[in-house]
Amino acid sequence: MRVFTHTHNGVILNSMTRRRWIADQSNGTTASLTGDQAAHLARVLRAQPGQIFDVVANGFLHRAEISTVSDREVVFTLHEELEADAALPVHLLLAVFKFDHLEWGIEKATELGAARITPVLARRTEKHLAQAAAKRVERWRRIALESSKQSRRTDVPDIDDPQTLKAALSLADAPHKLLLAETEQQNTLTAALTAHNHFDGPGAEHNRALALAIGPEGGWTPEEMQLFTASGWQHVTLGPRILRAETATIAALAICSALL
Ligand code: SAH
Repeated sequence: MRVFTHTHNGVILNSMTRRRWIADQSNGTTASLTGDQAAHLARVLRAQPGQIFDVVANGFLHRAEISTVSDREVVFTLHEELEADAALPVHLLLAVFKFDHLEWGIEKATELGAARITPVLARRTEKHLAQAAAKRVERWRRIALESSKQSRRTDVPDIDDPQTLKAALSLADAPHKLLLAETEQQNTLTAALTAHNHFDGPGAEHNRALALAIGPEGGWTPEEMQLFTASGWQHVTLGPRILRAETATIAALAICSALL
């Protein structure tokens, strides 16, 4: 990764350490932060015109200079675009399970770089959770946004509306699709990814894209596992112990980020 250095008030800052903000609005040459972000910049950080920050506007990372500050809106002039650190090209199909655990999983998956999360209403997703999921998704998107800022991602993972498994399977267009299954005994995630990495050739970038599916607390049913198999998903294990779904999510993404 390139590191950009600039001097501000005699302090060397670079894009790894400079505070990063995700703009609420942008027109391409200016960008602004509103609401809590503006209030925080204005009151807590006592932002001043002329200060330089990194600002993500319309999905692109820029060096940006504050032009005006109020409690309600901080406006930046966008300077040069900076090299963004790409998300991990991983699309998670994440079964809906107990919301507090699921939300923790979404936060951690965002930190670890997941590009997209599709919540799945699995057979063993508890009824009341399945019913409440559609209303909860806005909160999941907010968690992903907050976690993206905190972890200084330049993008925010897409969180789809909750889907049935069939619908989720048709959304998963990555060329490699791996079902995390505690019933699999041989094929490990590490082995599957190592084989996958050997693929090199035309379209290699797209071909690095990966979909991972993690089941609910009760696991995937045998019928669901067959549906995955019929849709071209390979079953992989994370080892002999049964992990909670959120632990499986984190472990799988950590392995992906080490190997992809
Ligand atoms: N049915 C299980 C629990 C499922 S764990 C039980 O015996 O209670 C929830 C999800 O985490 C699973 O559907 C799977 O996607 C993932 N998972 C947990 N442990 C795993 C392992 N050792 N290998 C692969 N995936 C695992």
